[in-house]
Amino acid sequence: MDNAGGGLTVKHVLIIDFGGQYSHLIARRIRELEVYGEFVSHTIDTDNLLEYVRESYGVILSGGPASVWEGKHDDIIKLIIKEDKPILGICYGHQLLARALGGIVQRSHKPEFGPTTVFLKVRDRIFKGIPNSFIVWMSHNDAVIEPPPGAEVLAYSHGSPVAAMRYGIHYGIQWHPEVAHTSYGMKLLSNWLDIIGAPRVWKLDIVVDKIIEDIRGVIGDSIAVAAISGGIDSTTATLIAYKSIGSKLKPVIIDHGLHPQGEPARSIKLLESIGLKPILVDASDMFIEALKGITDPEEKRRIFGKLYAEVLEEEALKLGAEYLVQGTIYPDIIESGGRPGASIIKTHHNVAGLPRNIRLKIVEPLKWFYKDEVRRIARKLGVPEEIIKRQPIPGPALAVRIEGEVTREKIDIVRRADAIVREEIENSGIQERLWQYFAILLNSKATGVKGDNRAYGYVVVVRAVISVDAMTASIARLQWDLLERIASRITSEIPQVTRVLYDITSKPPATIEWE
Ligand code: GLN
Repeated sequence: MDNAGGGLTVKHVLIIDFGGQYSHLIARRIRELEVYGEFVSHTIDTDNLLEYVRESYGVILSGGPASVWEGKHDDIIKLIIKEDKPILGICYGHQLLARALGGIVQRSHKPEFGPTTVFLKVRDRIFKGIPNSFIVWMSHNDAVIEPPPGAEVLAYSHGSPVAAMRYGIHYGIQWHPEVAHTSYGMKLLSNWLDIIGAPRVWKLDIVVDKIIEDIRGVIGDSIAVAAISGGIDSTTATLIAYKSIGSKLKPVIIDHGLHPQGEPARSIKLLESIGLKPILVDASDMFIEALKGITDPEEKRRIFGKLYAEVLEEEALKLGAEYLVQGTIYPDIIESGGRPGASIIKTHHNVAGLPRNIRLKIVEPLKWFYKDEVRRIARKLGVPEEIIKRQPIPGPALAVRIEGEVTREKIDIVRRADAIVREEIENSGIQERLWQYFAILLNSKATGVKGDNRAYGYVVVVRAVISVDAMTASIARLQWDLLERIASRITSEIPQVTRVLYDITSKPPATIEWE
């Protein structure tokens, strides 16, 4: 995190991502150990990357799918080593470090995947409190077979003669300390943080208090609006801003006419229970009008996003606001190729579909945090569990769960079907295990028979998935009788529907949402 311009200045440990499956998990583990983990891709501009390195306590090189002998990252690693910051290489990062320092990495005769025993050779400080042999989780085809000259081999396994090494201030380990299957993983990371002298100052309450103060300083006597979608991020961001500036914060809920059943009334009630009094802006006719005749999903998203920003901007200006509070979180910033920076205020506005020229300054209280951190903050601030646990809903809401053109009739059908899916799943008590469960309305029709008459009606798809972070998802194996109950209720309670299908596709290859 940079130190320019005041604001939140916390020195970081840098995690450089080489495309490993668990790279983000490394950053989260470092944060659990109360040190701010900054995550960057190795593909960013070199000067920028080296600046991150210079500002850090130390650098972690992640795992990755490449093989070091392809030579793809030799140049960048040499530049990083030159900066003289302590490095911890993990898996591919270990191999990169070993090769750059003169060691030999080859395709191994004994690739290791999953639980593997490692044996310590040297009781280095990094193994403080860790036994001489223990089980770790490995995932590699290549191995460091010859350590760099001058390096000390600290541990080995049957497939990795150099499973851990130390070279001056640098360490490399072949296994993944960040995954839960690795024993003493957190202990090892914690020892490394002690070795590099990173103080444990990433304590969420203290950080949030600092942000609250910071927002107060920045917004001063001006007015800010906050757009609330009803989900955890926007609610938590709004609550933080409310704690900063009280009634000068105007929470706004835009009714775009595409909310699930019972919304936004339910959200308003929950928000009122924590002291927020949102202003409801009814723009539903405008949204439905704007989406008329539009069938392309990307086009729907674009139109929705643009109109949302326009309506919000107009409302903000009406309220005399100068600032807009947004629930952007850390992964949003990283995915759009940015860095959060120290300042609470953003000067360019290209995140979350807002147009660049919006006449409001954007305040992003959550931009430093991962979702699990946001959840912890939300609980501390008293955000109701119902909001914290609410399933995510895409920005354009039901618009992307209606295949083809969005019409009032179709909104009504998908909303009712969705309510039945929710109700049945919640009644069966399995919702805690599911990431999302909802209904989709297809554009095609199917023949049915209702009350001895031929019926030609809509097709509803039911989708229920299990996921930890939405990056991948598997289908939920719902009980047949639950599925049957859902199908029978949808076809009998919604006259226009003749058929119900269950989506049995995981992500990948499918996405969680339909469009
Ligand atoms: N691709 C490298 C290997 O197979 C590193 C794997 C990893 O980082 N998980 O050994």
